This record gives sequence, structure tokens and C-alpha cells, in this order.
Amino acid sequence: MKRRTFLLGTASGFSVLALAACVSPAPVPTTSPAPTTLTPSLVPQPLTVSRTNWSADPFSRGSFSYASVGATPEHRAALGQAVDARVFFAGEATAADEPGTVQGARASGLLAASQVRDVAAPGERITIVGAGIAGITAARQLVNGGFNVVVIEARDRIGGRIDTVSDEWPFPIERGPSFVHNTSDNFLDDELTALGVKLLPFVRTPEVRTRAGAIVEVSPLGTQAVAGALSWAANQQQDVSVERALVDSGEASLSKTPNADGLSDADWLQYEIATKLKVETGATPSQQSAWYTTDIASTDDDQLVVGGYSTLLARDAEGLEMLLSSVVNRVAHDDGGVSLRLGTGESLSADRVIVTVPLGVLKNAAIEFSPALPFAHRGAIGALGMGVVDKVWLRFDVPFWDTSARLWTIVGEDADFPVWINMMPLTGDPVLMGLVAAENATRLSELDDDDFLAAALTALEPFLAVPDPQ
Ligand SMILES: Cc1cc2nc3c(=O)[nH]c(=O)nc-3n(C[C@H](O)[C@H](O)[C@H](O)COP(=O)(O)OP(=O)(O)OC[C@H]3O[C@@H](n4cnc5c(N)ncnc54)[C@H](O)[C@@H]3O)c2cc1C
Repeated sequence: MKRRTFLLGTASGFSVLALAACVSPAPVPTTSPAPTTLTPSLVPQPLTVSRTNWSADPFSRGSFSYASVGATPEHRAALGQAVDARVFFAGEATAADEPGTVQGARASGLLAASQVRDVAAPGERITIVGAGIAGITAARQLVNGGFNVVVIEARDRIGGRIDTVSDEWPFPIERGPSFVHNTSDNFLDDELTALGVKLLPFVRTPEVRTRAGAIVEVSPLGTQAVAGALSWAANQQQDVSVERALVDSGEASLSKTPNADGLSDADWLQYEIATKLKVETGATPSQQSAWYTTDIASTDDDQLVVGGYSTLLARDAEGLEMLLSSVVNRVAHDDGGVSLRLGTGESLSADRVIVTVPLGVLKNAAIEFSPALPFAHRGAIGALGMGVVDKVWLRFDVPFWDTSARLWTIVGEDADFPVWINMMPLTGDPVLMGLVAAENATRLSELDDDDFLAAALTALEPFLAVPDPQ
């Protein structure tokens, strides 16, 4: 079960340093000093900026679900169970395989539609809450099956977390998913290509820089430490956090003595956590399950969507009966059917409903269920985690960098944006996409746009082109 790919993550100085402090009796501080020659003002102001804030978004409340400590695949299955054959659930958090991905969400929509078909009579009225990929997929299946379907969506657009923006950009940018993850039974890439959407193979070989801008070879130490900790955890009686597994297995006991580049072995563990674990889950190692975190590990053969992920939805949504800008805040059911209350106070009746809202919305109790959801559903909503990953897209007049690497990462410091994708070699446009994850994303979500941009530009300083000597 593989998932979101490009995702490399953000360093949590806090948890990693705390973790290292637990196991390393006499640590030598290795923070790379900020070079005096590089200041934020040297990174030019971009012409266009697009920033996401998925944790503050009331219709998402996070980016995607992850396995928190104690959560199991059974929790996802429980969340996907129908209640009294009236209230059905879909969405990435319910996906048995590849949760947290587009294809996982889509598979959940297909499954919910087949569950409805199993119990519903032809022509029944089915309401679907949420016009993301899960909801649109379910709706399309049911309409094709002869049901009377209406989709109710809180936003003024379809797509949910698939959020393609074209205006002001030289190519459509993706504020949500950017990658198609290739798996044996995933045909999304073929479908997108058939729809005329441009996909680019994306091999994730990063150029790694220190804060001072030095280019360094990736050390395998961090990857090895995490792999060692997870295999140690697999043999324990009880699930623990990735952080605890790293400490208790001894894998976090890495030297903090800096080498000539100012980097220690411990920095490579922080790098692994920052650029992989956190971006793949949106959660810190202290939140992630050591047993199930690998269920959402990256693959090496992903494709980057540069022609509009949302095209996929537009095709399936064509001709669907849809209520946009309509927030559902209550779902009631009895033997006779379901009744939905909208934010406007209006009510809607149907025979059955498929609820596809994100886990974050359910966790936030934004929808009241009557009767209350069964214990197993409530347990699953509580147990599963909702991670946070945000993106910033920046378009510059001309590139300020001189590297042609597609993937940039930063080692040796707790950079807010430790991972960048350089679109220049891919599309020819001076456009960068940065990622911030986990607690750094939560912290930055509080910032106004100017401060958020300043944090992004500061993180880019290691990639400033070195001026030619006179
Ligand atoms: C930053 C980011 C990067 C990602 N990267 C990737 C990637 O590279 N590859 C990948 O495969 N996946 C990625 N994902 C995950 C992927 O986007 C999701 O798994 C998928 O889009 C979820 O689809 P869904 O239908 O389950 O949920 P959603 O798309 O969230 O759809 C749910 C819908 O319900 C609506 N809704 C919410 N509350 C209400 C309400 N009260 N009333 C009515 N409607 C409501 C929402 O507005 C939304 O439209 C990424 C996600 C994010 C945020």
C-alpha cells in the first residue's frame, strides 16, 4: 500500500531535538550558522503567490488522514461501514488501500456506490454530501445505475482537495494533490493522459543543500535509522509512535559531531523525518504509528500532474444534479429515509445518503448525526489522525537559482519549507512549489500572507545562485 509520493517533509526541530536529547548524553550542537552573505532580501519577491491553508479550511480541517498511534486499518474499515443501510461513508480516510490519495478516495467512492446499489431499489433518491473525487465518483456510478442523485457541496466549486488553479499561472497549479501514484491497479495516469492532461515522470532524486548553500550528498543514515526503528516496532506487543520506536530501539542514538560541512549523523535523521515522514503524513513522529506509518510511504515512479488534476472531476461531474455553496450540518435517518439540514436552515429528504466529507470535518463535529453515529464510527474518527501539509507556489520574473535540479531539499536546520519542486526544468517557467508540514504547517497557518511569504523566501536562501567572481 503505497501513497503520496513526492512528499518529503518538514523538520520538526522540536521533536527531533528532544528525541536526540533523550538518547545522546553529550550532544554537540550542530546547527549550521546562517551565512552572513545571505539575507532574505536577496531572494527576490515573486510575481505571483498562491498559498494553501488546509488546516484552517472549514471544509477540510487538514490535508489528509494518517495512522496515528493506536489507529489500525480496521478503524478505516469501521468508518466506511454503512449505518442502518441509510447512511453510507466514503472519502480517502475510509480507503482500505492507499488512504490519503486520490485513487484511495476514488476507490472509496466506487465501494460506497456498490454498497448503495446492493440495498437500494431502482430510481431511489440518493444524496451525496461532498463533491470531491469520492463523492463525484459515487454520484457518477449511481446516476449511470439509474438512481436519482443529488450532490451537495459546501464550496462554490467541485473537487474538494483537488484544487487546480489556472488564472495568473503559466500552467495550471495544484493546491492539493500534484502527483499520481503508480500502483498496479491504478489507472489514473492513463485516464488523465486520455483526457489530455499533461503528466511528467518525477524521479525523486533531490539536490540537498545546507543552510549555507553547500550541496551535499545524501547520507543513508536517516533512512536506515527509521527503517531500523520500524522493524524493531514490528516485533513489539503494542504499537508505539515512530519517535518512541526511534528512541527505544536505539536507532536515534546518532552522533551529533559535525563534519566539515557542519553536518552530523543526527542531522540525517532529522532530514529523513523532515523531508519524508512529515510530508507524507502531515504529522510529527510523535503522532505517527510505528506499525502503520509505512502504509503511506512514497513510491519512486510517480508522475507530476501539470495539466490540471481537476479535469478528472469535470468529466465525471458533467450533467450531475448539484447544489454548490450548500453546507450540510445535520444528517438524520430513520427506517423511512434520511433528512439533511443545510446551513441555510433548509431541509432535504432522500432515501439514502453517502457522506464523503473529510475526516477533519468529522473530527470537528461539523455535522450532527441523528441518531448519533455508532460507537465504532466514533472510535475510528477519534483514532485516525488528520495531518497537515501546505503548499506555496511562487512565480518569479527570472530564476534566482542556477541549479537545474527538480527537487530541492534542505539539511541541517529546521527549515519551515524543507522541500521544493523546481518547475523550470519541467515546464520552462520560473515557478517553485514549497511544502510545509506537520507542526510547522500548523504554526505557519496562523501567519498573515506577508509573514508566510517571508518564511518561504527565507527557506529558499540556500538556493540563491552564487554570483560570478569579478
Ligand atoms: C496539500 C495536499 C497534497 C496532496 N498530495 C497528493 C498527491 O500528490 N497525490 C495524491 O494521490 N493525493 C494527494 N493528496 C490527497 C488527496 O487530495 C485526497 O486524498 C483526495 O483528494 C480526497 O478526496 P475526497 O473526495 O475523499 O475528499 P475531498 O476532496 O476533501 O472532498 C470532500 C468534499 O466535501 C465537502 N464538504 C466538507 N464539509 C461539507 C459539508 N458540511 N457540507 C457539504 N460539503 C462538505 C468539501 O468541500 C469537499 O469538496 C493531497 C492532499 C493535499 C491537501
